[in-house]
Amino acid sequence: MLYQVPGVYDLTLPEAEDTPLVLDSPHSGHDYPDDFQCLVPQSDLRRVEDSFVDDLFGAAPQWGATLLCARFPRSYIDPNRAVTDIDPGLLMGTWPEPLRPTEKSRLGHGLVWRTYPPNRPLYAGRLPVEAVRRRIERYWQPYHDTLETEIRRLYAAHGCVYHLNCHSMPSTSSPFMAGGGRIGGRADFVLGDRDGASCDPAFTSFVRDYLQNQGYAVRLNDPYRGAELVRAYAAPEQGRHSLQIEINRALYMDEVTLQQGRGYQSLQKSLTGLIGAIAQFARDRRNSIRAEAAE
Ligand SMILES: [Zn+2]
Repeated sequence: MLYQVPGVYDLTLPEAEDTPLVLDSPHSGHDYPDDFQCLVPQSDLRRVEDSFVDDLFGAAPQWGATLLCARFPRSYIDPNRAVTDIDPGLLMGTWPEPLRPTEKSRLGHGLVWRTYPPNRPLYAGRLPVEAVRRRIERYWQPYHDTLETEIRRLYAAHGCVYHLNCHSMPSTSSPFMAGGGRIGGRADFVLGDRDGASCDPAFTSFVRDYLQNQGYAVRLNDPYRGAELVRAYAAPEQGRHSLQIEINRALYMDEVTLQQGRGYQSLQKSLTGLIGAIAQFARDRRNSIRAEAAE
């Protein structure tokens, strides 16, 4: 069953809701809002999307999992940042609440990006406070509310929930990104669990082992350890687990033309198998929690 909020998100609920698993793709959106007036052409903005990630994980509902995909572009407002991660220097006017800009804001890539990588200004001037608030209310908040609602609903029904936060990464590091310049060629996948804080390490190991058994090179928490979306709703000690997965774009697309590459279908097949395996892992965990409770 598909619920769409045009331009904001697509939410697909499984036919049979017997699996405590939700996937989300926050950066694959490319419905550019009419009021997104900036100095960088859309052809360039498209390069920072996590292209095709929504489609690559599209089989999730067939395995009983819930799938949430953003439709708006990350360069307009980034759902993987805290709502307080705003650079005050971007604003015309005073923000009504305390802001907590992080290193991401300092680098130009907080909640609302100030620069296009590595440091091309996105806007000619400052943005009115009202304009930024509107982006939050129309895009960031509905996306977060929906993800939180689905996580909580599944948790209430099953006693545990597993969340896979899905991204893709450029095949070579660039100076503006975490770890930029430190490594040359990247691994096929980078899993981020905030150094063990956002999920049971057994979940991370399960996903890593599955991918390695398929022949992929996997790194943990380097250079991506997971950001706001794996932080916000995770509480592993209570049974709410969030894990970030980054796919190397060279596996499935041409990073110059932005077209699907030769490896697309075989990667999609691997990911479909991965989702099926995680769905089974989640149901097994749920069943063992129920069995313990019944003893
Ligand atoms: Zn991403």
